[in-house]
Amino acid sequence: MRMLNDTFNPRVIRNYKFRIYPNKEQERKLLRWLETCRRIYNTALAQRKEAWEKEKRSVTRKEQQVWLKEAKKENDFFKEVHSQVAQEVLFRVVRASSGFFRRVKNGETPGYPRFKGKGRYKSLTFTQFGDGLGVSFQNGKLKLSKIGLVKIKLHRYIPCTVKTVNIKRGSTGKWHAVLAVETELKQLETLPGTAAGLDVGLEKFAALSDGCTIENPRYLRKTEKRLKHAQRSLSRKQKGSRNREKARQKLAGLHTKVHNQRRDFLHKESRKLVNAYGLIAVEDLNVKGMVKNRHLAKSISDAGWSEFLAMLCYKAEEAGSRVVKVNPSGTSQECSQCGKTVPKDLSVRVHRCPHCGLVLDRDVNAARNILKRALEAA
Ligand SMILES: [Zn+2]
Repeated sequence: MRMLNDTFNPRVIRNYKFRIYPNKEQERKLLRWLETCRRIYNTALAQRKEAWEKEKRSVTRKEQQVWLKEAKKENDFFKEVHSQVAQEVLFRVVRASSGFFRRVKNGETPGYPRFKGKGRYKSLTFTQFGDGLGVSFQNGKLKLSKIGLVKIKLHRYIPCTVKTVNIKRGSTGKWHAVLAVETELKQLETLPGTAAGLDVGLEKFAALSDGCTIENPRYLRKTEKRLKHAQRSLSRKQKGSRNREKARQKLAGLHTKVHNQRRDFLHKESRKLVNAYGLIAVEDLNVKGMVKNRHLAKSISDAGWSEFLAMLCYKAEEAGSRVVKVNPSGTSQECSQCGKTVPKDLSVRVHRCPHCGLVLDRDVNAARNILKRALEAA
């Protein structure tokens, strides 16, 4: 197994997605750029296709750069697009056609890469981030060269250096900026606010690897108590009586209330997690298997873990963060500091390691192991 230490420390690219709000004029410009980039893309792709069909040779990107420079002089639309963004289109053409030429060389007969139809070109890439370069931050806004200051919702801390910025238009017309950030794998663990392990609790809803906990809310426990009371009350009422019908209605109302409150709670907590962390490590719980375990059964089905996990996953996808599921076996028995096994049954709430001396809340220790496993697998 790979261990996270000083000798193993590769750099990784992570994408951070943020919603941006271009104003009317900026949006019109961005849409024009998309259309222009689509034309550059199709023309450059056609040049390669023609050279191949007529002369059996491949056009280089350098040649196409020269063509683009010349074309800009005569075309006002080409001139309008920022040079980085226009140049990047040529890289996309290289990527799209390289697979084709590789397969031709291998003696296959692949189909030529497709041209992009109207509206099928959906993103623009600024390849240089920094003050005075194509894209940067200014006064809490995203500064796009030749477009202006665009409102951005920075809902999350960005670690390390931004490399490139991809401006995307979704099918619903919403705009996003995807920031590609280079970071060290190790930093994901040590920087606050970038990665967290999450352990489902018995008493509390969950524990986080940084020591935070998510408690089950009191209002929910209160309604649940009332629900139990109403259940008992109903069973004491005579069948067919008006009082029984009243009690039944009351019980049904409380059921709905508990259900709504719980969903509300799960939505809020999953949103908070996704906003706070770029990577969230969770146990890959086969909930059916877990519910068989009588001790855990109540808390897990009550806490609605699988519902929570589903919310977490789709919210993470929207926000561009990642949810990593890991094998949960032994996460509470393992020491998160030295890795040795420290056996303890469910009643032992504190992890005390006789090997390295670590003393930690049982669930926080487990959450740290969950995070460790996710980072090792990343
Ligand atoms: Zn230890």
